[in-house]
Amino acid sequence: MTFIITGFIVFALIAYFFLKNNKAKAAEIVAKSDLKPLLAQHISFYRDLDDESKLLFEQKVKLFLGGITIEGVGTVVDDNDRAMIASSAVIPIFGFKDWEYQNLTNVILYPDTFDGEFQFEGEDRNILGMVGTGYMNGQMILSRAALIKGFSKLAGKENTAIHEFVHLLDKSDGATDGVPENLLAHEYVLPWLKMIHQEIHKIEAGKSDINPYAITNEAEFFAVVAEYFFQKPDELKHKHPELYEMLSTIFRQNRAED
Ligand SMILES: [Zn+2]
Repeated sequence: MTFIITGFIVFALIAYFFLKNNKAKAAEIVAKSDLKPLLAQHISFYRDLDDESKLLFEQKVKLFLGGITIEGVGTVVDDNDRAMIASSAVIPIFGFKDWEYQNLTNVILYPDTFDGEFQFEGEDRNILGMVGTGYMNGQMILSRAALIKGFSKLAGKENTAIHEFVHLLDKSDGATDGVPENLLAHEYVLPWLKMIHQEIHKIEAGKSDINPYAITNEAEFFAVVAEYFFQKPDELKHKHPELYEMLSTIFRQNRAED
């Protein structure tokens, strides 16, 4: 019996030091790398900020990277990946004073598309990005190809990684249902749902420029129009002023120029 207990304690200590070491290593990588040039190079959201806000963005990027683990599967994660993943996390929450993704511990990065053999929910584009549920809770899977495309000139209204982080915001109230109750005052909930359903009808009738993937359900609608809001704010404001106003209220950001 004593032997078993001693064995267990030794095992627990080894596991503790192993994990602590890993965490320390991750923190060390974050502390060492200067992501500023990469942010300036790839992230137009960051480039558009004034100097003070840029500093705040950098701090939020560091905070995010210090709190989660990014693992590559079949690939080595580099600073470029770290800068883009962290930016995708920070952009939707940039309007909030303090926000930590409580429901995320790991981001798993695949070089390209991956299949859906995991316990993941809701993603038809499940080859590009997913947020885990069940035993995969706290995990996000991203395709690097999609991650990079989202920040390239080819992205248009789409950004897969931002889409996935918006799902996490949505999920923070316990339900991924397109209604981020933590972020939206109660009186806005019904107007928001009405707006969603009206726009879904327009998409179905072929009378909307919003990605048809949005009609999957309310959660996908929210994530898809959030991509549009962050990628093409001026266009969204011009073509869908009410939608723009609502998203501006939810994210506490005014992204359009005028
Ligand atoms: Zn989605």
